[in-house]
Amino acid sequence: MSAVDIAADAATTPFTEHESNVRTYCRTFPEVFCAAHNATLVAESGRTYVDFFAAAGSLNYGHNDPRIKRAVVAYLEGDGVLQALDMYTVAKRRFISSFQDTVLAPRGLDYKLQFCGPTGANAVEAALKLSRIVTGRSGVVSFMGGYHGLSLGSLAVTGNRALRRAAGTRLDGCTFVPYPAGPSGEFDALAYLERMFTDAHSGTELPASVIVETIQAEGGVYIPRDGWLAQLAALCRAHGVLLICDEIQTGCGRTGTFFAFERNGIAPDIVCVSKSISGIGLPMAMLLIRPELDQWEPGAHTGTFRGNQLAFVAAEAALAYWRDGAFTARIAEHESVLARTLAGCAHDVPGLAVRGRGMLWALDFTRCGGGQTARRVSAEAFRRGVVVETAGRDGNVLKIMPPLTIEPETLLQGCDKLARAVRAECAANR
Ligand code: PMP
Repeated sequence: MSAVDIAADAATTPFTEHESNVRTYCRTFPEVFCAAHNATLVAESGRTYVDFFAAAGSLNYGHNDPRIKRAVVAYLEGDGVLQALDMYTVAKRRFISSFQDTVLAPRGLDYKLQFCGPTGANAVEAALKLSRIVTGRSGVVSFMGGYHGLSLGSLAVTGNRALRRAAGTRLDGCTFVPYPAGPSGEFDALAYLERMFTDAHSGTELPASVIVETIQAEGGVYIPRDGWLAQLAALCRAHGVLLICDEIQTGCGRTGTFFAFERNGIAPDIVCVSKSISGIGLPMAMLLIRPELDQWEPGAHTGTFRGNQLAFVAAEAALAYWRDGAFTARIAEHESVLARTLAGCAHDVPGLAVRGRGMLWALDFTRCGGGQTARRVSAEAFRRGVVVETAGRDGNVLKIMPPLTIEPETLLQGCDKLARAVRAECAANR
């Protein structure tokens, strides 16, 4: 063992000895991180990394955004209330008003806000429960490849078999339908659902809701054709089935607009929002509910941590990004850099596929070495100083999602390192 290895070993021993085996990302990115700014992560070892993962999409505004951090620090220094269950607070009132004025009103959206327990999974739980309360039906339709969380209710609508097995119990009540885009090609999910809803011999009761990711992120960055989501919304409406859009990963600007569904000109019945909503990585999750569907009894989905006041403060500060068009213009510029770089990789590596929107992109290795190659590229990118994670079936896809606020030069640097990692691993593979 070299001196460097011994130091690395000592640094990670507390985790490997005392933290549960369930830990995961630390295995892919085995550094001990100590500081971060925007898209740059600093490790205790002194190495720095360009962050193309953004904490699984929960840091769309980067690490320690100065404006958001100032708001949080000022609130702490002013002895603002930190925990208030779901009581009325100034911090929550400010967030609700700003979200209304900055996000909902300009888009002509009319929703009630429900603050859930602080994880995405809890927002999904709440959405499924509400759809059952409103319709009096219990079944749910979800899509193959979909990811909605790992609590039992949200896991029941998540496709990944290995993750489902870890539940150790039956996960009932969900009918899975192929997503319109996926590794096996296109599928006419609308025609299938129409049959399922209308044929009295379909073997499936009319469901309470259909839950859908506008773009499947964990599933491998699959994007339905334009117009598909609007047709799904119309189909659901025609049959009195509620449409739940899970915007937990695609929301907060990730795909170029605040909500990914905006491009489709629809207003889903229920929208799940989490991850980047708090702007700085603090836990927060909420549902947007069409007002007439807000049929909860008081306290029917309660929980201690449904009012993380610091998250409200940070979330309100983050909304400043959306008060003019400059931010979306910046995302569009970054999008073209990502598209160009990744197309260059695909040009050099036969079989490598590229797809994406906004700042959510995929390099798909399904036809050039699969998950093994994707994992090797991720590891090589990490050695070269880029944090980028795999997704999709068997991890066949590298999912690329830098903070939306990344500096242009850092983006170029990260792209260059990633492209070199792809070429190094794929040349070695041939
Ligand atoms: N839905 C989607 C689309 C997600 O991407 C995730 C997290 N990857 C979740 C739900 C679950 O969120 P959480 O991990 O905060 O429970």
